[in-house]
Amino acid sequence: MLTGAKRAATLCIALTLLLTLTVGAFAAYNPGTYVAEVRGHNGPIKVSATFSRDAITSVEVLDHNETVGVGTPAIERLPKAIVEHQSLGLDTVSGATITSYAVLAGVSSCVKQAGGDIDALRAKVIKKTPGPRITKTADVVVIGAGGAGMSAAMSAVENGASVIVIEKNAAIGGNTLVSGCVWNAANPALSSKTPAAMGLNEKLKSYLEMDEGELPPEFRPTLKTLKEQIAAYLAGDTSMMFDSVELHMIQTYFAGKRQGLDGTTIEGSFDFIEILCRKSLETQEWLKKTAGTVFRDELAEPIGSLWKRANGPVDKWEDFFVKPAKYITDNGGEILCEVTGKELIVENGRVVGVKAVMADGTPMELYAAKGVVLATGGYGGNTAMVIEYNNYWPELDPNILTTNRKEIIGEGIIMALAIGADLTGMGYTQLMPIGWADTGLLALGGGSNVMYISQEGRRFVNEYAERDVISKAAFAVGTLFYELKTLGSDFVTPVGTPESHVVFIADTLEELAAKIGCDPAVLKSEVERYNSFVDQGYDPDFGKTSFTHRIESPYVARAMKPSIHHTMGGVKIDTDCHVLNKEGKIIPGLYAAGEVAGGIHAGNRVGGNAIADIFVFGRIAGANAAKGK
Ligand SMILES: Cc1cc2nc3c(=O)[nH]c(=O)nc-3n(C[C@H](O)[C@H](O)[C@H](O)COP(=O)(O)OP(=O)(O)OC[C@H]3O[C@@H](n4cnc5c(N)ncnc54)[C@H](O)[C@@H]3O)c2cc1C
Repeated sequence: MLTGAKRAATLCIALTLLLTLTVGAFAAYNPGTYVAEVRGHNGPIKVSATFSRDAITSVEVLDHNETVGVGTPAIERLPKAIVEHQSLGLDTVSGATITSYAVLAGVSSCVKQAGGDIDALRAKVIKKTPGPRITKTADVVVIGAGGAGMSAAMSAVENGASVIVIEKNAAIGGNTLVSGCVWNAANPALSSKTPAAMGLNEKLKSYLEMDEGELPPEFRPTLKTLKEQIAAYLAGDTSMMFDSVELHMIQTYFAGKRQGLDGTTIEGSFDFIEILCRKSLETQEWLKKTAGTVFRDELAEPIGSLWKRANGPVDKWEDFFVKPAKYITDNGGEILCEVTGKELIVENGRVVGVKAVMADGTPMELYAAKGVVLATGGYGGNTAMVIEYNNYWPELDPNILTTNRKEIIGEGIIMALAIGADLTGMGYTQLMPIGWADTGLLALGGGSNVMYISQEGRRFVNEYAERDVISKAAFAVGTLFYELKTLGSDFVTPVGTPESHVVFIADTLEELAAKIGCDPAVLKSEVERYNSFVDQGYDPDFGKTSFTHRIESPYVARAMKPSIHHTMGGVKIDTDCHVLNKEGKIIPGLYAAGEVAGGIHAGNRVGGNAIADIFVFGRIAGANAAKGK
């Protein structure tokens, strides 16, 4: 028999045990802080999560390399949202999908380490409740906040209009923000202090010999002026570069003239090319003056640029987005992110606004008293659309990769088409020859310091040629090829790891040949031959005309494959950026600028001409919309 005191003590122990077991049964986590490393878009992301017995108490991203304005919205928002909702069933942040998945994966790993139930947390889906319809009105509504949209909005507020910009992603930027942001503008002040590469004079002489009959009549005076400029240059000191608006125009015309698979020829119009090339430098000055954009004032030559004439912002996020956004909002404009334009509103034949939807499903109607500017970019993230319209590439693999952000899918073109807009040049898509073989992302680089070799180690193309020429040549030698250069011969740092099989560094050509799997004797003889061309500034094999570096040890070879890059086609516009219908008439109230518009680059865009295009024509579209012109 238990005494009363013993009975009480036993009961107490039993109760404590029961309590411990009960609480233990409900403990969701082993308290503590756990760390995980996951792969983000640009490299590893280090995440930590802290747990009490029954909750995630904090999540932190300790380290990352994600791009500002692209991946960072996910890094800023998701940790808080995970803690707030105690859930891993959250939507990814628009425009930051890969980073979002990475953060969620990192926290999942921490949950697992803490003994939590990942599936239960993922199953807790957070439902968004749409609010009632929101209606807003301004003089001008801009759809899309990449470079063209920002330029249009700046120009519209500068011309006294009230402006609303909508952007479907969580942050402004679009493809422009992930681009190299190099911007072609003939700038004699910069050219005259840039040393001329070996071979360029030969190229200039070829223009002197050019027959004017090769050009449409409206371009002939341009060629005549160019010949006079070149003759004067060649008669003087040629140690520094020559450049002029006329050279830019003639190069843009020839680079764009292409024949489609259907036998038709596409070529750039004089008016568009003249505006693009003549207003480019002036538009850089305008950005400096209005937004305070700072340019590097040092010329670059991205692949396929055909000449060294590209300047660029010192900091693309700050100079192309943060500062312009401040200019827009300081002047009364409004920028709304996570608002997707869905359908243009047409009343009595005039575009008067756009129906849109917010990220939580709330419907919006945005009315524009003076004009709507489409600035939604191209469709390089929409392979099916590229293939549907293709009239240039004999074969396009449906699995071809892209350099584009995946949100760039041609929505503006589809919206305009739905209200009767005409399209032009849709069959012509630019492939970027130097896409990383493993991801398709842009590998960056130019043509003057490199030699391209096939998998057999043989040189196969003029590396300074247009992008389509290089891509076609790459397909002919088996698609995958190597960009070979002297390590350190340009600003591009080799990325990738030995496991990624995309970057190979070697001290000798024998070692490099072993790494890429080609015959060392072939590689050596090809490099020797190429270096002799560099020395003489003349390439009898493929006609390359710009050489800045020999190929010497230490060598770096980067594995490349052409990937979808730029869509030259889009809605048909006139030089005032009015969108035209199928009868060639202006659709009142609708303007377009940037990659959403077709016709500027014809069949092949010159590298560095798109950034010029979006700011030049964005500015024109915004001004005309503001004036209701
Ligand atoms: C990796 C890469 C590098 C490049 N580098 C260069 C370079 O150095 N020089 C050069 O000249 N060209 C370059 N280009 C090409 C150039 O960047 C693009 O042609 C240009 O940035 C397009 O600008 P945009 O304003 O027309 O479109 P984007 O910058 O793509 O902006 C369009 C915006 O509209 C938004 N949007 C789309 N649909 C909707 C909708 N329905 N509602 C609301 N918003 C919407 C998108 O989210 C996006 O933010 C590069 C392209 C890529 C992909």
